[in-house]
Amino acid sequence: MNALLSAVSADAGTGRPILDAATREVIGHAPVQTVADLDAAIVAASAAQPAWAALGHAERSRLMRLIADDIDAQAEELGQIITHEQGKVAGAGEAHGAAHWLRDTADIVLEPQRIGDGAELHYVPLGVVASIGPWNFPVMIAVWHIAPALRMGNTLVIKPSENTPLSVLALIEIFNRHLPEGVVTAVSGDREVGAALASHPGVAKIVFTGSTATGRRIVESSANNLARLTLELGGNDAGIVLPGTDVDAVADKLFWGAFMNTGQVCAALKRLYVHDSVYDEMVAALAERAASAPMGSGHDKSNRLGPVQNPSQFDIVSRLVDDARERGARIVTGGEPAAELGPLFYRPTIIADVEDGAAVVDEEQFGPVLPVIRYSDVDDAVRRANGTEQGLGASVWGADADAAAQVAERLQAGTVWINQHGGVDPQVPFGGTKASGYGLEFGVEGLKAMAATKVIRR
Ligand code: NAD
Repeated sequence: MNALLSAVSADAGTGRPILDAATREVIGHAPVQTVADLDAAIVAASAAQPAWAALGHAERSRLMRLIADDIDAQAEELGQIITHEQGKVAGAGEAHGAAHWLRDTADIVLEPQRIGDGAELHYVPLGVVASIGPWNFPVMIAVWHIAPALRMGNTLVIKPSENTPLSVLALIEIFNRHLPEGVVTAVSGDREVGAALASHPGVAKIVFTGSTATGRRIVESSANNLARLTLELGGNDAGIVLPGTDVDAVADKLFWGAFMNTGQVCAALKRLYVHDSVYDEMVAALAERAASAPMGSGHDKSNRLGPVQNPSQFDIVSRLVDDARERGARIVTGGEPAAELGPLFYRPTIIADVEDGAAVVDEEQFGPVLPVIRYSDVDDAVRRANGTEQGLGASVWGADADAAAQVAERLQAGTVWINQHGGVDPQVPFGGTKASGYGLEFGVEGLKAMAATKVIRR
């Protein structure tokens, strides 16, 4: 067990066992904390907040950069914990990415705005922010929540996913080497603790990343504390491949837009609509990449794909593929567990000759599976791409940039990528529409979302 993991792991007698996603061996124990621990964390966060706000932007940013350096220095150890818990290849990459994000957020400038002659709009801290996150990018998404909250002078209480608590506890351990007590506290608990955090009267803002179903519960909880919400919820991102697309030129980007992190990405490509004229060529190109992508332990850096993180997600993936097969869809490659690699590995799967109405098209698979749907009329493809309750991301693929941009304008999504899918940037606002949530993260808009506005008129 590495030193960072030992520092955060609880005793076997009191903690909850956490398994390696690939081998299903116990790698450590998560502390089991309760609503009483949560109350104490919120008292500490409230007490710490005024002094933290009083430090000012420059000093808070300085501390954030120090923490980023420390995360970089510990990226191998933190990355091992991420790979154990989450299964991804090269968890250190996620750790370095989080450090980069923290540094970039420390550098964003948000000045008060002058309006007319005598008014100024200021952005002031909200108080205590609650962060509730998922298991697919536990450390990166924690930093997406923490960085803007701290930067704007708030303190924060974070409840990690019960599937990946140790990597978040390790991250917070690094933060707390540099921060005053109470500025960031992790409470490792279950859904009950999450629900108590979301409705806690001491919380001014909730930033939540997770499923649409839980997002709806958080909206209900927030009736209690009137907390402001940023909700980054599920996605079922569509891609549209236009007629005349050079398949060879885009196939790699398309494949990884769908299969990055073994498909466990909120804004992964989850349904691909391909024009009839290039359909067979595209299905073959994607299937070739799926069949040859190296899959296995995330600790072996020559692999590109890992396991599905947990058994219930594995069951969702299996169910959606089995349903498609029973409906007569063509499983071009994959379509079954890769049991020889471990219990939660599922072969990268390309499904062709499948239509809207099949569960694998209509529901979020969140795993290594891509349904490829044939279309002949672009208007019809746009209508089908928009015909879902979710609207996180979407993409358009084609050789004609103007035609692609025109289709992009018609897609209902928080982000539409052209000839790429899923890239995010600390300076570029990101958020969903429809049932994928509301509120923006990243960039200046992300800082504003962690602040109250105050107008001063002279
Ligand atoms: P989830 O909704 O099951 O759980 C997320 C978190 O909510 C966990 O920490 C859980 O303990 C907590 N929780 C559960 N019930 C709660 C309640 N009633 N009140 C408060 N907290 C509660 O999601 P998951 O399975 O961990 O993550 C996968 C989902 O997250 C997918 O749908 C994916 O698309 C989505 N996601 C979205 C984004 C985005 O930026 N939009 C990013 C990553 C993941």
